Amino acid sequence: MSIDGVLLFSGGLDSILAALLLQEQGLNIRCLHYVSPFFGSPRARSRWKQLYGLDVEIADAGPEMVRLVKDWPEHGFGKVMNPCVDCKITLLRLAKVRMEELGGSFIATGEVLGQRPMSQRRDIMNLIRHQAGVDDLLLRPLCAKHLDPTPCELSGLVDRERLLDLHGRGRQEQLNLARHYGLTEIPSPGGGCLLTERENARHYWPLRKYRERPTVEDFRLANCGRQLWHAEEGTTACWMVVARNNRDNERLRAFAAADDLLAGLCDYPGPIALLRDGCRWPGDLLERACSQFVSYAPRVTQAMEQDSVLEVRVWLKRADASQSVLSVRPDTERTFFARPDWEEVRAEKHALASRREEERKAERQLLREARQKAWLESHPDRVSTQAEPAHDAKPRS
Ligand code: SF4
Repeated sequence: MSIDGVLLFSGGLDSILAALLLQEQGLNIRCLHYVSPFFGSPRARSRWKQLYGLDVEIADAGPEMVRLVKDWPEHGFGKVMNPCVDCKITLLRLAKVRMEELGGSFIATGEVLGQRPMSQRRDIMNLIRHQAGVDDLLLRPLCAKHLDPTPCELSGLVDRERLLDLHGRGRQEQLNLARHYGLTEIPSPGGGCLLTERENARHYWPLRKYRERPTVEDFRLANCGRQLWHAEEGTTACWMVVARNNRDNERLRAFAAADDLLAGLCDYPGPIALLRDGCRWPGDLLERACSQFVSYAPRVTQAMEQDSVLEVRVWLKRADASQSVLSVRPDTERTFFARPDWEEVRAEKHALASRREEERKAERQLLREARQKAWLESHPDRVSTQAEPAHDAKPRS
């Protein structure tokens, strides 16, 4: 069945209302719910159908989001590690491709002008639309009356009169609208994106710092258990994840890749640990990792109260199921492997942002000089009599 348009659907109240508002006009809308290691609820699809009657397609934005986080987003990070402007540009680009595949005529979002201080400011919204290449396609139905009419409104496909003029951060009008549509369950505002939380940034930052090409799977693993790193100048940083509960244990088993090692206790119940690329770690490092890992098992700490020189046996398994056993003394100081605190992450983020800005300035200067040089070469007669033009000044004829 052909569609009229697609809608970027986060599952938040605004995107639900935008979908219902357009459907109320009789438009056939395909809701696109993008998922990545940082956001998305792929399992909520049937609930959305049941609660709101919406057909939601789950789509993957993982590789694009990981690239943004790793490669430094063009418009920078927000307060934490959230690259909101570039994220929106990215999702709109993906939605444009999907809209074309489905034969739709527009892309809608649930954005409300002025709702967020940065990414929903008018100038930033225009920039996002432009850089995503959706100038003629983007419809923002909840605040359309504050914006210029779009081609899908001018053509009569969408009835502009039935679009809204919401503005600002209040939610009362959205709640009234939810009542109008008879919504029995209203999603709580904000949240949902792990990149906006400092605790998660402490897990993600080492990945972008230490792993040359972190993958989607790496970032998914970073959402699991205790995240611990050991990094020494001049050596490869080592990453260990220790489960906090049985669910983490299962997840770590599923995450284990060819070069990883799984570690567990031979004689006590307790967590397991995943040592990423552990097959390549030197023996002394493996021993230090296991010493620290066993200290997270409550039964080991209880046993240590009775026997202060306790040795604990740890099994180490490779993906091919081969296994070895190591005896270690628990390291209760737990400092050899650690994770950065937020202040450290923030300081490094600011330092990198300043460096990027300096690089950009230098690039702009080089470009200016190249333009001036090209102009002088093409106007040899003017060289001695006229000052060089500013980079953006048009040469007079
Ligand atoms: S909060 Fe997260 S999902 Fe939302 S725009 Fe920002 S980076 Fe993207």
